[in-house]
Amino acid sequence: MRVLITGITGMAGSHLAEYCLARGDVEVVGTVRWRSPRENIAGIADKVRLVDADLRDQAGVRRLLEQVEPDAIFHLAAQSFVPASWSGPADTMMTNVLGQVHLLEAMRDLRMTDVPMQIAGSSEEYGLVHPEETPITEENPLRPLSPYAVSKVTQDMLGWQYHQSFGLRTVRTRAFNHEGPRRGEVFVTSNFAKQIALIEAGKQAPVLEVGNLEARRDWHDVRDTVVAYWKAAFEGEPGEVYNIGRGEALSIQGMLDILLSMAKVDVKVRPVPERMRPSDVELLLCDPTKFRDRTGWTPTIPLDQTLRDTLEYWRERVS
Ligand code: NDP
Repeated sequence: MRVLITGITGMAGSHLAEYCLARGDVEVVGTVRWRSPRENIAGIADKVRLVDADLRDQAGVRRLLEQVEPDAIFHLAAQSFVPASWSGPADTMMTNVLGQVHLLEAMRDLRMTDVPMQIAGSSEEYGLVHPEETPITEENPLRPLSPYAVSKVTQDMLGWQYHQSFGLRTVRTRAFNHEGPRRGEVFVTSNFAKQIALIEAGKQAPVLEVGNLEARRDWHDVRDTVVAYWKAAFEGEPGEVYNIGRGEALSIQGMLDILLSMAKVDVKVRPVPERMRPSDVELLLCDPTKFRDRTGWTPTIPLDQTLRDTLEYWRERVS
């Protein structure tokens, strides 16, 4: 069994690669770009095959699939940072939407109709959710509130359409926030953890800068997410879409309180206007019933473990 992971150098891609290798019977191939940081996959560099491919390059994507001949595809590569989609919406569309069109078209041309393909959508697709519409099921309206979210809705719809039109075995996942070691430092859990680690190391004044602390999110651990991705590809119904989440919401303030309780020094918190988004999603609470009923998947790692591991990750890096 040979799997292709687009975006193997990212947080989820690197954890998914480790999960696949730990299964023992899986050959892992991942896409990289020439400037991709390799730190996340340093521990498995000699166990995975890396292929150069930028998703925006149509010919390169087709060559990638021809060369690799994967038995399954996990499509994780993306411009994944919501704020970057405000400053560069076209770039986000190019990578996320056009990049996936290139993959799907190559699969169609190469008649890869028996290759399961998991497509990493996002809870951000639901966007504006009224309180009475929670918890969020897969039937909720999609009201994306950022260019990133629009790109993920489009990836999602393309996955459905290529299944309907050409019989590709796409399975779409709408993952709610997943966190853990290797999370990019621009993301809120990782950013707070890094600031605490810097303060502990005496490299930042004891003031932690924050944005909107009111928004509530359904957090789980990336090491659980990647198990869900595997199950989605192999146990999900082709053409279907599944929410991936815990089914419990906690505010960013609540998450910050857990992290602060782990800090070894006193830390003051200061709101900073630049950290606010033009329009934020207030509550994202997952109803994971459909996926749980289909596959039995449920998160196993408690949030405080995830946050402790993220803080340790940063302590090792800033000291
Ligand atoms: P990361 O930002 O950590 O990783 C993104 C990966 O995509 C990197 O390997 C990056 O490569 C690659 N990539 C970006 N642009 C291109 C391109 N043009 N061509 C090829 N590769 C590219 O994201 P995560 O691991 O956190 O997320 C994985 C997926 O899950 C993404 O699709 C994201 O949108 C989605 N998702 C994430 C959630 C979360 O909470 N983490 C929630 C819901 C969905 P490089 O190293 O070269 O930049």
